Amino acid sequence: MAIKAVVFDMDGVLIDAKDWHYEALNQALEYFGYTISRADHLSTFDGLPTRRKLEMLSQERGLPRGLHGFLSDLKQQYTVDLVHLRCKPMFVHEYALSNLKARGYKLGLGSNSIRSTCELMMEKSSLAAYLDVIVSNEDVKKAKPHPDIYLKAAEDLGVTPAECLVVEDNENGIKSAEAAGCHLLVVNTVHDVQLDRILQAIRHAEEAAP
Ligand SMILES: [Mg+2]
Repeated sequence: MAIKAVVFDMDGVLIDAKDWHYEALNQALEYFGYTISRADHLSTFDGLPTRRKLEMLSQERGLPRGLHGFLSDLKQQYTVDLVHLRCKPMFVHEYALSNLKARGYKLGLGSNSIRSTCELMMEKSSLAAYLDVIVSNEDVKKAKPHPDIYLKAAEDLGVTPAECLVVEDNENGIKSAEAAGCHLLVVNTVHDVQLDRILQAIRHAEEAAP
């Protein structure tokens, strides 16, 4: 089956924002004496929506649930500040997305971030113009690792999940893409997101599928 669309995860794939979310949430938590260690971040929290992280802190470490709304707002403001400071276009991504677009692939973003963060980051990285759809955690009932975000991205692009190649960097996202029935290209860093790697993954997916 031919691959017709490529759907990118955002953090760790198109945007090197893992540390921004980590720093922003810790900056907010520190007001109340809480902190997430880097080890816990990498092993457990990375890639989850803020509301899920806060819920886990309440369950495991007694963070009062009444603080969730305030902490989410504060974390979001810190994230926006960091995006304005640090988010810049990467030539390798602009090159990859513009080439894929020119070859006729539909392009989407499927992210566990909230919509305003997705739109801001895509704008700041000059990638917004290449994307046909953006699916944020606000557009589905269940964020990654559930399949909903990638199922909705495929639906909005007018293709089946099996016609999609998903580019992902972490466990929660990989589970989500696999559960949705999409093909997968796993990358370690934003620097691995290169046109030739994506085209190679598309060829592999097309050869593997019946
Ligand atoms: Mg990611």
